[in-house]
Amino acid sequence: MAEEIRIGVFVCDCGSNIAGYLKVSELAEYAKTLPNVVYVKENLYTCSESGINEIKAAVKEQDLNRVVVASCTPRTHEPLFRETCAEGGLNPYLFEMVNIRDQCSWVHMQEKEEGTAKAKDLIRMGVAKASLLQPQEPIESPMDPRAMVIGGGISGMTSALALANRGYQVTLVEKAAELGGLLLQLDKIGPANADAASVAEKHAQQVQGHPKIKTLTATKIDAINGYIGNFKVTTSTNGVQEEFGVGVIVVATGARVLKPVGLFNYDGEKVITQLELESLFKKGAFNAKNVVMIQCVGARNEERKYCSRICCMVAIKNAIAIKERSPDTGVHILYRDIQAYGTENEELYQYAKQLGVRFLKYDQAKPPKVEEGRVTVYHHLLGRDLELPVDLVVLSTPLIAGEDNETISRLLRVSLDENKFFLEGHVKLKPLDFANDGIYLCGNAHYPATVREAISQALGAASRASIPLSRDVMTVEPIVSTLVDEDACRGCGLCVALCPYGALEIVRTEKGRKVKVIPVACKGCGVCAATCYQHALTINSYTDEQIGQQIEAFLETGTEG
Ligand code: SF4
Ligand code: SF4
Repeated sequence: MAEEIRIGVFVCDCGSNIAGYLKVSELAEYAKTLPNVVYVKENLYTCSESGINEIKAAVKEQDLNRVVVASCTPRTHEPLFRETCAEGGLNPYLFEMVNIRDQCSWVHMQEKEEGTAKAKDLIRMGVAKASLLQPQEPIESPMDPRAMVIGGGISGMTSALALANRGYQVTLVEKAAELGGLLLQLDKIGPANADAASVAEKHAQQVQGHPKIKTLTATKIDAINGYIGNFKVTTSTNGVQEEFGVGVIVVATGARVLKPVGLFNYDGEKVITQLELESLFKKGAFNAKNVVMIQCVGARNEERKYCSRICCMVAIKNAIAIKERSPDTGVHILYRDIQAYGTENEELYQYAKQLGVRFLKYDQAKPPKVEEGRVTVYHHLLGRDLELPVDLVVLSTPLIAGEDNETISRLLRVSLDENKFFLEGHVKLKPLDFANDGIYLCGNAHYPATVREAISQALGAASRASIPLSRDVMTVEPIVSTLVDEDACRGCGLCVALCPYGALEIVRTEKGRKVKVIPVACKGCGVCAATCYQHALTINSYTDEQIGQQIEAFLETGTEG
């Protein structure tokens, strides 16, 4: 006998977030009229302890076998409600969430009647889909407890050490012959003026002496295949290939400093970059009498719209270093806007002024002009050009994406942003993760960061990576693609080519070439199911029947609409 479907619907006020703009009591009354609904409850906050307890109690007392919550976004609350259903004794995948806040009350704040009618449609569709939900079991896959860190700068070394100190075996892959990255080119690290070379050396010694870290320098990554818990990496060092497996990967590939070729008469001698100035400091070769620094060179323009964030503080740090070495040297910083965020940086900005560093704002439309022995800049307040004598011009150029980012993003199947920096999974919810499970990012690979920020992110990425590493078995959501009709599959490989997560492969079977799903790599995005002209694939909990039922429910006229 077919199972009797008994749906409980919980409609949330979300305080005034929903109840302030929609008629929630009317929604609850409406839900009672829908097919298979046997229980309806309006909650002030469904996610509160009392709301959660009400769901658990209703599942037991009302013998519910499907639960629908009409509230906020599944992005933040679906796991909580699934867990609640499980605690109430219901398979957690017999739960459906309807978003009547972000997709309804918040966007129809001035339209109470229309918003309420739309919320009824959404609830009707959710209930219709819930009737067809089937129990699912989480998918398990073994976890290789080893990690790879790509990049041997401060972020990569910090991340590798953090993972190794937790007991995990780490392979650190660096393309240069030496560990240290950009730190090797810096003089001091602000705001505490630590010696950059010593910091790099200390970290490199710890990495190279750590029994859990294998360091591969002068090494290129040739291939990365697989998925969380089971990546296979191929590297080559001096032409010798090596293959190894890891469970997680941290991307810490760093960034490069833009070389301002063709800008402000840059010549690497009298017109140099901040990095080249630091190298003069390191060699003890700095001896200028009049220095002019120009900010935002090659940044915040049409070609490169972003602010590199760190260049203002680098200029201020180096201006202070000049004044402390040689108080009589004149230093002007020509800027468009000064980024001196945080208490310490603001203090350094003020300190630089006290030392006599002069800050002059310039207009992007009237940039400074660099000529032999002088820099001309238009002064806003005076309303005329100023001529500054100069024997050294220092250009503050932005950090730009690493030259290998595109190759590595292809190997890992992860995204880059418009400036070719690596793109995080979600700017707020997954800032150190990629959209693909088991791959994490930190430091300048993500966006220009100070050394302190890079270290914090590296520790964060290592913590994120430790979560799966600490498990013997990976458990993933069963909302994944499934080959429902092996006979229908023609093995054409179209879905394999389009899957953004590398979760499909073609295998040879007795019936010929067929697609195979790697469930642990699948994110349930649905691209394959939508692509397959043979309808051979479907997504668990988003089957054609379930979506069709939702559409039919939408097309039905509601009781009052
Ligand atoms: Fe082609 Fe469909 Fe088979 Fe994929 S599932 S290989 S698209 S027939
Ligand atoms: Fe790949 Fe998306 Fe299909 Fe999963 S649902 S196999 S991630 S295309």
